[in-house]
Amino acid sequence: MRLICVDCGHTHPPALSYACEACGGILEVQGESGLEPPREVALLASMWRHAGRLCINDPANIVSLGEGLTPMRRAPRIEAALPGFHGEVWLKDETRNPSGSFKDRLVSAGIGKALELGARGVICASSGNAGASTAAYAARAGMPAIIVVPAHTPAGKLTQIAAYGAILLLVEGHYSRSYDLALGLARQAGFANLTTTFLNPWAVDALKLTGLEIFEQLGRVAPSHVLIPTGSGPLVKGVAQGFTETGATPKLVAVQAEGCAPIVRAFEAGAEAVTAWDTPRTIASGISDPLIGYERDGSYTLKLVRRSGGLAVSVSDAALRDAMRDLARLEGVYAEPTGASPLAALRRLLAEGRMPPDARAVCMITGHGFKDGAAFADMPARTHRVADPADVAAVARLCDHAMAEQG
Ligand SMILES: *Cc1c(COP(=O)(O)O)cnc(C)c1O
Ligand SMILES: [Zn+2]
Repeated sequence: MRLICVDCGHTHPPALSYACEACGGILEVQGESGLEPPREVALLASMWRHAGRLCINDPANIVSLGEGLTPMRRAPRIEAALPGFHGEVWLKDETRNPSGSFKDRLVSAGIGKALELGARGVICASSGNAGASTAAYAARAGMPAIIVVPAHTPAGKLTQIAAYGAILLLVEGHYSRSYDLALGLARQAGFANLTTTFLNPWAVDALKLTGLEIFEQLGRVAPSHVLIPTGSGPLVKGVAQGFTETGATPKLVAVQAEGCAPIVRAFEAGAEAVTAWDTPRTIASGISDPLIGYERDGSYTLKLVRRSGGLAVSVSDAALRDAMRDLARLEGVYAEPTGASPLAALRRLLAEGRMPPDARAVCMITGHGFKDGAAFADMPARTHRVADPADVAAVARLCDHAMAEQG
């Protein structure tokens, strides 16, 4: 295995390297470990089923909590609620990862490789989920972890990171400031940097299995579209890479929030280079990434989206709330705002005639609702206070009334 620059092709030995020595470009892993499939049942029920496709050479360095191999389900009630739609909607349920987001895939691979390459600890700059994931896997591995997050990160995510026992640093301002601090700290402490932009090639590499899982779970056929909540874009790359090997080519849809949409802005302008976003404002904390200082991550992602024949689209916070509500009420899926963004995007694209009504669309539900319960707080709920629990008849009438109101 070695690292290769996606921009200039310069190759590097397998090390904890985060950028091309020649041009500063994004590095990716070339080659695979070729490990035998693991024997342990718990590992076989995780992405490590494909250990040979990943980057860890010594099985003793695998750090797993049961990540990946997440369920994919058809969403018939959501399909029925889409006007004029006669295709298929599938939900790839990444909320089912151990810490509640798909970041566990990256972190499991990245921390194992950090162990293999001799790192003493791990650092991660995060908008919340990657930090929670890193803290969880560091606990599992018995490694020290430092997590750097914006001070305004949703409380549920902060609680989760603190619970796993990591050192948690709160930084005022947008995510890119946390990113810079983590870069400096990792250098100073000699820790591995697990920040889940395109920084850590060993971590990003594991996401290719996401595309492969979708292909297998659809019965070895490709969807027409995969809708992906997009910050800097490693997940877009992972899905694209996974499908490359299958010969199938779904259109990739990068979904961003209207209040932080640097990739969508460049897509709509027909530009090649993504420029940073000034002031992110959205409830979708998982994709609130202005890309300041690593704009080239966004440009790379945009290139992959275009190469797939796909598109980039933004959604409003109001549309996110509708999508969160409908995922929960129509399909029993509790997603954080970011995780619901693919459904909001699907609606928008169908309504605008930018996606065919017979599409076979996969929505990547990337993060769990438990992480940001506050985002549901102002949603109309059907909650009633019971004055007299002994008066069953009265309570039954109240329920009848409530059911009739719902229609
Ligand atoms: C990090 C994150 C994303 C964005 O992923 P990128 O690969 O950074 O583009 C999407 N959804 C959730 C829930 C996330 O935590
Ligand atoms: Zn290079």
